[in-house]
Amino acid sequence: FIQFDNVHKRYGENEVLKGIDFSVEKHEVVCLIGASGSGKSTLLRCVNALEPIQEGKILVDRDVVSGPGVDVDRLRRKVGMVFQSFNLFPHMTVAQNIAIGPIKLLGVRPKEAQQHAMELLERVNLSHRADYYPDQLSGGQQQRVAIVRALAMKPEVLLLDEITSALDPELVAEVLNIVRELAADGMTMLLATHEMTFAREVSDKIVFLEQGRILESGPPSQLFENPKEERTKAFLKQVV
Ligand code: ATP
Ligand code: MG
Repeated sequence: FIQFDNVHKRYGENEVLKGIDFSVEKHEVVCLIGASGSGKSTLLRCVNALEPIQEGKILVDRDVVSGPGVDVDRLRRKVGMVFQSFNLFPHMTVAQNIAIGPIKLLGVRPKEAQQHAMELLERVNLSHRADYYPDQLSGGQQQRVAIVRALAMKPEVLLLDEITSALDPELVAEVLNIVRELAADGMTMLLATHEMTFAREVSDKIVFLEQGRILESGPPSQLFENPKEERTKAFLKQVV
């Protein structure tokens, strides 16, 4: 569903993605792992056309989404993204945060959008917080709202960038549970994470990035139990 074809990305002289090739199939969950600065966030941002690439191609649903002339609105309707910092609109209630995208971008009627927002909130056990403002919620609750806000747009794929790393440890589980449920429902996801135990459990494929290159990729059982590369071993030893 997402295909990376010899993707190169530079910030000035600094090449941060150096020929990335891999794909995410429909209903697949793929985790990007790798040290800080290895290029995980950059790669995710390129998929959503938040960053241009200088060489190669990225395809989403068979459409080339890198390069000029891309219909960014169309792309972002298909591709939802959730960040480490929840980025909710502070002046809107939880329900408004969720409903606003469908109303403004999909032309859904306000009443319907509100109703769908309530259903989504129920799904993540937050319907009792619909009228709260983001700063009245815990980090874990805000992040759950951010996830359902992305889901409200009915995306075909979700990009999740370190969605638990700003959270206190006791709040991480409630957010990861939602990702687990989405995976079980067949949502296509590409995520960057430092949560190795979670990555191993939830993913169909792990991609290990090192300094802008894929050093190794494969099913979690292989990558975690039997890494081919010494440097993958060293990385895993360090983070586990
Ligand atoms: P982390 O685990 O810390 O989130 P990461 O794997 O997500 O790291 P990126 O944020 O993708 O890493 O950064 C990859 C490289 O690109 C780094 O060397 C970083 O300094 C550089 N970089 C990222 N964003 C920019 C930017 N806007 N301008 C210039 N360089 C950038
Ligand atoms: Mg990052």
